[in-house]
Amino acid sequence: MNNTYYGKLIFELSRPGRVGYSLPKCECEGYSLGDLGQEALRQTETILPECDELTVVRHYTNMSNNNFGVDTGFYPLGSCTMKYNPKLNEELAALPGFNQHPVTPAKFAQGSLKLYDEVQKTLAEIAGLSRFTLNPYAGAHGELTGLMVIRSYHMSRGDSARTKIIVPDSAHGTNPASAAVCGLQIVEVKSTADGTVDIEDLKPLLGPDIAGMMMTNPNTLGLFETKIPEIAKLVHECGGLMYYDGANLNPMLGVCRPGDMGFDVMHINLHKTFSTPHGGGGPGSGPVGVRKGLEQFLPNPQVVAKDFKDSKDFKDLKVYELHCDDESLGYVSFFLGNFAIIVRAYAYLLSLGKENIPTAGKLSVLNANYIKESLRSHYKLPIDTVCKHEFVFDGLLEEYGGDHHSPDHVTTLDVAKRLLDYGFHAPTIYFPLLFHEALMIEPTETESKETLDDFIAVMKRIAEEAKANPEMVKTAPHDTPVRRMDDVKAVKEPKFTFKAL
Ligand SMILES: *Cc1c(COP(=O)(O)O)cnc(C)c1O
Repeated sequence: MNNTYYGKLIFELSRPGRVGYSLPKCECEGYSLGDLGQEALRQTETILPECDELTVVRHYTNMSNNNFGVDTGFYPLGSCTMKYNPKLNEELAALPGFNQHPVTPAKFAQGSLKLYDEVQKTLAEIAGLSRFTLNPYAGAHGELTGLMVIRSYHMSRGDSARTKIIVPDSAHGTNPASAAVCGLQIVEVKSTADGTVDIEDLKPLLGPDIAGMMMTNPNTLGLFETKIPEIAKLVHECGGLMYYDGANLNPMLGVCRPGDMGFDVMHINLHKTFSTPHGGGGPGSGPVGVRKGLEQFLPNPQVVAKDFKDSKDFKDLKVYELHCDDESLGYVSFFLGNFAIIVRAYAYLLSLGKENIPTAGKLSVLNANYIKESLRSHYKLPIDTVCKHEFVFDGLLEEYGGDHHSPDHVTTLDVAKRLLDYGFHAPTIYFPLLFHEALMIEPTETESKETLDDFIAVMKRIAEEAKANPEMVKTAPHDTPVRRMDDVKAVKEPKFTFKAL
């Protein structure tokens, strides 16, 4: 893979005078840029690459080949639900009718508002809650919005003493982060050895200063939290509300509903469970749902459907309006959130339909358990039970990975790097923090048995390599464009600009 274009920046391919475009003839005969006035004109030369069209095409095509995505291969990134994003969703999201200016008056945007309302209602039915807002831009943004709903609820009752929120030690990092941004103090509740919330640890934390409790279900270990009814009862008795982190709702679809379990507020990630694309920081969508009695606190604006009363010939017809509530927590986004993502989720919901949505969740559980049971002969399974859509290994079994004190010890990081050589994206590693060598695998329902079998075979092969030739695994990846990166530097000191030497 060594050619003129490979691994180069477009600026390095630039040659003075090369042009890859042709502009139409200027139609403003008689005008010159100078007429704009000096203050509107750039005073220095722009630095732009000068390339012919073919160079540009090859540059970007090569660059896209260096990327890894669901469209290129298996991507079992635990907690992220990297399910396939059907191309149909993309086509529908690109329909010109949905490409509206954000301040289009509601009467000229009835189709878009209807779509928003139908997604809102469908999610409410799936979740067993009363109403959703689709305005938040991401899961973490939904958490913040949901916590603001909880705060608005307490404030509306004149109860300003509830400044603390309970978060399990297994929670996704965004939970404590969102709570802190919301100005809440975080109180951690421990997990028992079976990986679920410890009720005995919870009881003494409850009191008049508790705003509520955040729970993730299935939790970050991929386990169903079995004691929810009891926990919800305890939290409600102390005056707090129950928050459901539904980023990973996938395995629950059509099987059980957070609203029925006693939750008051929740968020869902459209860019996980509902097959819209994610990665690279967005765009995403984190709808927030509430039970009856909390609707007025949701962010403005809300989309409401009203009966069209003007004519008896159209009695089923609805008109859609934007509604702002005085009790609302305010605005969390511009207009109606990432609308094109909502269109994709709508397409997904309708193409599966009510009958097939539960199948998606069940297949994701079957696939996860299939991989777990197939690999436990080679990898350490710290919690031995039926999982939901994902599960966690705690590194290689000692007979393959060696003793963790030895310099030859093959770690989870080594396994993850070696997987890249075999064309698989690595699972989530070193998260959750409950185990030292966590390897968190989530296959999703969209993978075929052949893909799962290939992955299992490769994971076993890496275990065998770790035993026979640990150096091979410890120095992986061998076949990728770059070898081991400094992960911290790559995040903390990214270079986004090109400086000619
Ligand atoms: C992904 C995830 C989040 C955060 O979602 P973002 O869209 O990345 O902000 C929160 N909680 C859980 C359990 C998640 O898996």
